[in-house]
Amino acid sequence: MAKLVLEKVEKRYAGFHAIKGVDLAIDDREFIVFVGPSGCGKTTMLRMIAGLEEITGGDFSIDGVRANDIPPDKRGLAMVFQTYALYPHMTVAENMGFALKMAKVPKREIKQKVAGVAQMLQLDLVLDRRPKELSGGQRQRVAIGRAIVRNPRGFLFDEPLSNLDAVLRVQMRTELVRLNKQLETTMIYVTHDQIEAMTMADRIVVLNGGIVEQVGSPLELYNNPANLFVAGFIGSPKMNLLEGEITARDGNGVVVKLDDAGLVRVEGANVDAAVGTKVTFGTRPEHTLLGSEGSISGTVDFVEHLGNETLVYVTRPGKKQMIVRTDDLSVVRTGDPVRMIPQAGRAVLFGPDGKALLRRKFHLH
Ligand code: ATP
Repeated sequence: MAKLVLEKVEKRYAGFHAIKGVDLAIDDREFIVFVGPSGCGKTTMLRMIAGLEEITGGDFSIDGVRANDIPPDKRGLAMVFQTYALYPHMTVAENMGFALKMAKVPKREIKQKVAGVAQMLQLDLVLDRRPKELSGGQRQRVAIGRAIVRNPRGFLFDEPLSNLDAVLRVQMRTELVRLNKQLETTMIYVTHDQIEAMTMADRIVVLNGGIVEQVGSPLELYNNPANLFVAGFIGSPKMNLLEGEITARDGNGVVVKLDDAGLVRVEGANVDAAVGTKVTFGTRPEHTLLGSEGSISGTVDFVEHLGNETLVYVTRPGKKQMIVRTDDLSVVRTGDPVRMIPQAGRAVLFGPDGKALLRRKFHLH
């Protein structure tokens, strides 16, 4: 069990207000990802939860018990860092069992426990090797195994995959999610990589400048970004954002006159704004179609063929560049004039305060 609750949690360093009142309830067994740009406070949040950093305001509890002043080793939370810091002179088995040895657990018990965890992490064939004889991915797994053998109530990961190459990262991503289900423990994972956040999290916490911008499932954040920050942060390439004004409403949505282009439609009966409201209109590259008609025109600047998809970068003189994602290989070439049609049923709208003006329904099939 590890239900973690933060209430109005603050962190003030001498002269710097790093975390500005965070409320967050993390359920037992949840896989939570903290994501946000550099310096937004991800690591500070994790270190306060671990007990490595003092909480300077608000309350933090573990399973209903106030934990602000509980020392790190009594919280039952294991932290795994980007730098795995294994003991170079010890074997994999010795590294993994070290904490248990220090806690005077009987040797046979340690051996059994280490063997079980090694099997879970596919390290059973390398238990007698030293860290320098392992691949980066294996070393990271030893660091995770070292945490698992201690039977923690929860795991705290601080960018643990940053040192691995792209293939290993993808592999470890799935392994960590599998471990979360297998061990039935709470996991908090810090990353600046929104793809990691989208692929691993039950819920993502988007941080920005020491505040929480939004908490939700990956698809909730993708479909219903609460504000312009989340809209720009989640999704790669980024959402196209254009300024405009609502010029008409009907039963099924609104019409927006873009400042630097023509009229676009946003379908969604629950748009919460009147005619005349200044808005930011958002259309993701994958929801923006190229066509011979369409109210937004520009010139193809360059085309990236990625195999499974093509990204078309469109410049509009004196206006913002836009990106279109398509799976049509034949499409266009640099220099071609193009028109773009945003899909009315997928577009989003934000008010003058940057907050979302509609909430889309979406279903997982
Ligand atoms: P990154 O992705 O770059 O690691 P982060 O989101 O993890 O960033 P933190 O390390 O949590 O960010 O830092 C949050 C803010 O607090 C940053 O602006 C940082 O400069 C500041 N900060 C961190 N530690 C201290 C400290 N000991 N004293 C003063 N300010 C600090």
